[in-house]
Amino acid sequence: MNTQFERPNIIRPPSEWKSYFLPLTSGCSNNTCTFCNFYGARLQMRELDDVKREIDALAAYIRSGIRLPAVPQIVYEIAGSWDGKRIFLQDGDALVYPFPKLRETLHYLNERFPDLERIGSYATPQDILRRSQDQLRELKELKLSIFYMGVESGDDKVLQKVGKGVNHHELVEAGRKVKEAGITLSVTVILGLGGIEGSEEHALETAKILTEIDPDYAGALTLTMVPGTPLYEQWKQGGFHLISPTRSLEELKIIIENSNFTDCFFSSMHASNYFSVRGQLPRDKERMLTEIKEVLAARDPSLLRPEFLRGL
Ligand code: SF4
Repeated sequence: MNTQFERPNIIRPPSEWKSYFLPLTSGCSNNTCTFCNFYGARLQMRELDDVKREIDALAAYIRSGIRLPAVPQIVYEIAGSWDGKRIFLQDGDALVYPFPKLRETLHYLNERFPDLERIGSYATPQDILRRSQDQLRELKELKLSIFYMGVESGDDKVLQKVGKGVNHHELVEAGRKVKEAGITLSVTVILGLGGIEGSEEHALETAKILTEIDPDYAGALTLTMVPGTPLYEQWKQGGFHLISPTRSLEELKIIIENSNFTDCFFSSMHASNYFSVRGQLPRDKERMLTEIKEVLAARDPSLLRPEFLRGL
């Protein structure tokens, strides 16, 4: 195995819990988001030969239980609970991996594991916009069939302040491009990212961008301050004002009320949220809004997830 490459910790979307986690990169190519723990992280590309060695080791283990020497223990730990159906490519944006190498990795995976159902990856909007429509279609044919893209906000002012590196229009373009390629799109937005002053506009613009992108899955997270990030410092120095837990629920209500989807599974089940709601939109819109309104009307903090149970 390549000793230069530092295997990243497993940070994954909730729906990938059964996947095998195969690192192609470490860090994130767009390490400028001021709220993110990838801020400033160095991007590392893994050698293709090293990736292939891991795939071979995994195949040998799955087929005959053979453990090859010099293969990190983590490979067998993940393989032990793998269902053999899904692969998740790490790290923060594996789509940045050079296209010929990505294509070869996918071919290799498909050859070794012909029964794979799907391969998934985080993708930044910049990565998606750099790829041609034909390239995306080719990736889909090779079973790279779900992308997780952070939208964060639809408000250009917020996007610019937090260093997202793309604007509303570019995010919509990236999202639509994924869908046109037939790839499933799962996006996340962050409640509270506009702070107190920008809360209303952040929520309204976020509803608007979600409508325009019309993803298959949308998840709402709640802003959590990560020590060491620029936004954390800004907050500590009084330059950023965090919204209250109740306000985060109001933002959630605004987003659900004002967005219009064709068919989207929307959820706020992530551990960072104060309240969990989920459903298929538009079908469950009224039920979801009623649940939120009831909690808002009750004004009972015990109905919200306590701070110590919130997580990133
Ligand atoms: S693009 Fe995503 S992973 Fe990368 S720094 Fe921004 S929020 Fe973090």
